[in-house]
Amino acid sequence: MSLIEKIKDRFDLSPIKPKWPGLIENYKKWLPVNANTPIITLKEGGTPLIRVGSIEKRIGRGIRVYVKYDGLNPTGSFKDRGMTMAISKAKEDGCEAVICASTGNTSASAAAYARRGGMRAFVLIPDGYVAQGKLAQALVYGAEVLAIKGNFDKALDIVREIAEKYPITLVNSVNPYRIQGQKTSAFEIVDALGEAPDWLCIPMGNAGNITAYWMGFQEYFKAGHSTILPKMMGFQAKGSAPLILNAIVKEPETIATAIRIGNPVNREKAMIAKEESKGSFLAVTDEEIINAYKILGKEEGIFCEPASAASVAGLLKRKQEIPNKSTIVCVLTGNGLKDPDCAITNNDAVFHSDLDANLKTVAKTMGF
Ligand SMILES: *Cc1c(COP(=O)(O)O)cnc(C)c1O
Repeated sequence: MSLIEKIKDRFDLSPIKPKWPGLIENYKKWLPVNANTPIITLKEGGTPLIRVGSIEKRIGRGIRVYVKYDGLNPTGSFKDRGMTMAISKAKEDGCEAVICASTGNTSASAAAYARRGGMRAFVLIPDGYVAQGKLAQALVYGAEVLAIKGNFDKALDIVREIAEKYPITLVNSVNPYRIQGQKTSAFEIVDALGEAPDWLCIPMGNAGNITAYWMGFQEYFKAGHSTILPKMMGFQAKGSAPLILNAIVKEPETIATAIRIGNPVNREKAMIAKEESKGSFLAVTDEEIINAYKILGKEEGIFCEPASAASVAGLLKRKQEIPNKSTIVCVLTGNGLKDPDCAITNNDAVFHSDLDANLKTVAKTMGF
C-alpha cells in the first residue's frame, strides 16, 4: 500500500463513499434470486431516512418522526424496488415483453426497467388521470402506452386477462416478486435506526407496499435484527378509501392520483398486516393531504407527491394516539416532481409577476 493509500485507509478520506450496489445486490440473501438471475438494476433503494422537526414540533412529547424518502429512487417512486425484482425475474424466465395497469408510477418504473432489460413495455393508464411527470417518463422510457376510457381498476382487469391469454408478463403488484423487492425498504429502516420504529405510516392504494413492509419487518424481526415490530398505520384518501369503508369504491376520487384505487388487489394481505401488527387504517381528506404536502415542502425542503403526503397527514390526524417517546417512520412513496400541476395549484408561495426589469422595481417589490 502506498503512503497515500495508507492515510486514506486510516482516515477514510476517499472522496466518494462506497457505492450502493442496488437493493438486490445488497439484500441478496433475503431475495428469491440465484447465480443465474440477470440483475436489471438502476441502483434503486438505499434511500435516505430523514428526521422531520416540523412534524415533531406539531406533535411534541418527545416523539421522533422520520420520513423514508423513497421518491429518490431512480424513476422517482418506490415502485423501482419491486420492479428491479420483477423485471430481473422476467428476464431470467426469458420473457420478451411486460404489461401493467398503472396510475402512473408503475408504468414509469416498468418502462425504465423493461427497456433496460431489453424488453417491450406495454402500459395501460386511465386517460386523463395520470400526473404529467409520470406520463412524460413512460414516453421517454419507451413504453407503448394504451390510455383507456376507464379507471385504474378497469385497466387492471384488462391486463390480468391479457397476461393470462398471451405470452406477456404482468408486473403489477399481483406479481409476487414486486412485494419481495419492496420489502427491502423495511430492512433499510431497521438498518438505519438499529431497531424497528413503533409506527410505520404509509399511504395505501392497491396495498402492495404495506404488505411488503410488513413482510420485511417480520423477516428482520425473526432473524433478530429488531426486538419490536411496528404497528402498521395505513392511510387512504377519503374519496378513495375501500380499505377503510370495507367496500369497493366504484368511482374513486382524490387529488392523490397514485392512490385513486377503488378495489385494492392486496385487500386481504393488508387486513392481515393491520391485524397482526395491531395497527389501524384511516382516511384523510384531500385538504389534509395538501396541508401535509405543503409543510414538507416549505418547512423541510422535501417535495413529495400528494399520495405520499397522505402518510404524514394521517400521522398528524392521529397525533393524540401516539405513545410518548415513540419513533415513527412515514413513507414518502413518490417524488413531488411527478405532479407539477398539483404543485402549481397548491402552494403558498409569494409570486410577483409582470415586474418592470429594473433594480428599483425589484428592490421595491422586495420591500426595500
Ligand atoms: C403506487 C403508489 C402508492 C400506493 O402503493 P400501493 O402498493 O398500491 O398501496 C402510493 N404512493 C405512490 C406515490 C405510489 O406510486
